Amino acid sequence: MHKTLYLKILLGYLVFAVFGFIVVATFIAGMTQEHCRRDTADKLYGEATLIADTYATDLYNTEISLDSVQKQIRALGTFMDADIYIINPSGRMVVNSFTEPDPAGNVYIHDFDPSVTAGGRNYFVDHFFGEYDGDRLSVLAPISSDYRVRGYVCITKDYDDVNEEAYRLLNISYLELVVLFLLSMIILIFFTQLVYVPLRRITRATEQYAAGNMKYRVSVDSEDEMGYLAASLNYMASEIDTAEEDQKKFIANVSHDFRSPLTSMKGFLEAMLDGTIPPELHAKYLQVVLNETSRLTKLTNGLLMLNNLSTGGMLLCRTDFDINEVIRSVGASFEQTCRSRKIAIELVLTGQTLHVNADRDRIEQVLYNLVDNAIKFSHADSVVRVETTVKRSKVFVSVRDSGIGIPKEDQKNIWERFYKTDLSRGKDKTGTGLGLSIVREIIRAHGENINVVSTEGVGSEFIFTLPLAEQQEES
Ligand code: ADP
Repeated sequence: MHKTLYLKILLGYLVFAVFGFIVVATFIAGMTQEHCRRDTADKLYGEATLIADTYATDLYNTEISLDSVQKQIRALGTFMDADIYIINPSGRMVVNSFTEPDPAGNVYIHDFDPSVTAGGRNYFVDHFFGEYDGDRLSVLAPISSDYRVRGYVCITKDYDDVNEEAYRLLNISYLELVVLFLLSMIILIFFTQLVYVPLRRITRATEQYAAGNMKYRVSVDSEDEMGYLAASLNYMASEIDTAEEDQKKFIANVSHDFRSPLTSMKGFLEAMLDGTIPPELHAKYLQVVLNETSRLTKLTNGLLMLNNLSTGGMLLCRTDFDINEVIRSVGASFEQTCRSRKIAIELVLTGQTLHVNADRDRIEQVLYNLVDNAIKFSHADSVVRVETTVKRSKVFVSVRDSGIGIPKEDQKNIWERFYKTDLSRGKDKTGTGLGLSIVREIIRAHGENINVVSTEGVGSEFIFTLPLAEQQEES
């Protein structure tokens, strides 16, 4: 691809050079020749008119001798590198600039025709009435005296001399063209450095990405569109790379979390079948198998839920409801567990009722997960405290325990799927590590925030916000 782009630019240059040459060789050449012809003719005509008005008129009025006129026009002819003639209307040559005057005066220019310049031009190009072999550029100026034409001053110059002048000018044009072409190479160099080289690097990068190497980085540092494109590509690759890593981690976690309960169930069932576990203990181990199946169900449900949340967003069914009431009912559902572990749930609620605007079922799920964690990771004989406070138009719901706490380095990771702290592994064997991911997705879908404050060995507090219902705000 890049090769053709470069070739196209080079081809453009070639076309530019060829066209430039053709234009100079045709139009410009024609124009230069025409210009030189006119210019020389004008000069010759000016001289011819001057001679006609001075020496020639004097000659016809016999005020000056033929010899002195010849001397004058000879000097002028040498100066102009041209031949000068004074000719009678009949064609008889009176004098010229290059031969001594003939006293008999019997030299005729036979084909002499003064009307040759009629038709707008003051010059003509031919063999000067058959007097010369080569082409001549000639002008005629009439010599008038007493209101009649007495003769003509003719000046004729070798046409090759005129053309030579034109060729000299034309050579300058060619030189200019070459210089212009070389200078415009600068554009090519700029194009190569600013566009072509970065483009090649970017193309190489895209080939690497297509081959699956997302670690490849483009090295274009210019601060222009190319630099911006390269930076965007690098960013895209790093995002895809992270997403791929996440995906791999996710699949490894899923496989691991599914495999361990399956292995343990298989082990128990085989042991029961081959009699390693005696029939009287079957009920006990079937209970273990049942627990494992419910863990698998929980895991599958959690994954499905997360998948629904992250693909296409979550459709919230927002209503105004009493968050205090939801907290009370969640608290009540943990009564049995709390009693067995000697844990108390303390509710510190603002107002009798506190209406918020949110998806009730989802928020109940959030509270359930948070209280479940708080109880799971609490020590026996401790208190789990659920509190609501109102600040401006927000309700802050806090779930606090004085349990094992979360190490500082784990605090930002607990929201990730399958993440469990090392501390918690001993305390909770049924956890999936999905609960907090689901909690965060739900709170985010509401456009709200959730945070954790925790000290290892002291306890944890999860606080999330909810918008106050309008009716509650008014009251
Ligand atoms: P799990 O199903 O394992 O509880 P979560 O996503 O709810 O999954 O929690 C992730 C991890 O965060 C837990 O395994 C635990 O290590 C830690 N964690 C969550 N809540 C608490 C808490 N209240 N106290 C201590 N650690 C907690």
